[in-house]
Parts: sequence; structure tokens; C-alpha cells
Amino acid sequence: MQRSDAFIEGLPKAELHLHLEGSLEPEQMFDLAARNKIDIPFQSIDEVRAAYDFANLQDFLDIYYQGMNVLKTEQDFYDLTMAYCRRVHADNCRHAEVFFDPQGHTERGVSFQVFIDGIAGALRDAENELGMTSKLIMCFLRHLSEESALETLDLAAPYLDRIAGVRQGF
Ligand SMILES: [Zn+2]
Repeated sequence: MQRSDAFIEGLPKAELHLHLEGSLEPEQMFDLAARNKIDIPFQSIDEVRAAYDFANLQDFLDIYYQGMNVLKTEQDFYDLTMAYCRRVHADNCRHAEVFFDPQGHTERGVSFQVFIDGIAGALRDAENELGMTSKLIMCFLRHLSEESALETLDLAAPYLDRIAGVRQGF
């Protein structure tokens, strides 16, 4: 390793633009698909990796939404979030501003409480165990209606103490 690489790796970092669901690694996609008995259109981890080598936005979105399908339970969202935190903590990330896509989950019948408890619980544990601070930012999906965004905001109402802001995603 070059000296400058070691210097860069050692620097404290902040991640300010992270789509949590997009951080799902192929290995974890397979693990969660097996745990939840969900069919995914890939035979191997290498096939998922190949699909992630996307050529355009639609290809990316296709795999992004296929990945989301394996996320069902609070534990799944906890594990996804904690895997992300451990991964970037290894690169000396000290603070992360994490985006999540509620509509990608409520549309599949996953309740708001399930994913907010999983995600926020992992972020709290990451702060306690790893010393990594974070903010949670809710995205409204751009291809869905204003009405759907407002419904999502209503669903979020009991949890606003855990949500630092909102944005329009994709
Ligand atoms: Zn983005």
C-alpha cells in the first residue's frame, strides 16, 4: 500500500448521501432470501454481482427493487443497517446521513413500524457500539404521486423523533 492510501484510509469520514436499501450486498440478499423463503431471479452471488454491473438507470432500479423484496422483518432491516454501519466504520466513517425509501416497503405490505424500528434500532446500536453517529432521512419516490408522499408522511408521524428530514429520491 502506498503511504498516501494509508493516510486516506485513516482519515475520519462522513457519508452524506447513502441509499440504505442500495447498500444490500449480494451475500446478504441471498441470506435474507433464504431466511424469508423468497425467490430471487438469481442462481448465484456472481449473478447478482453481474446484475449490479448495470448499464443504465433502469437496470440499476430493477436490481434495487429486486433487492428490496428480500427485506421483510424488523430483523432484516436491522441486519441490513448494521452491515452497512460495520462496513463503513471499517473505513473510519464517523457519521452517516442515511436515506431510506418507505414507499418501497409499504407498497409491498411491510408496515412502517417494522422498517423504522429495524433501521433506527441498528443506527442506535451503531452509535453505542461503534461510536458512529447518524441521521435518518426519509425519501419520497419521485415516480409516485404527491398523494402517496403525503400518505407516507402521515404513516411517519409517530416516528418523527427518529427522522431528521425528508427528500425526494430517484
Ligand atoms: Zn441519491
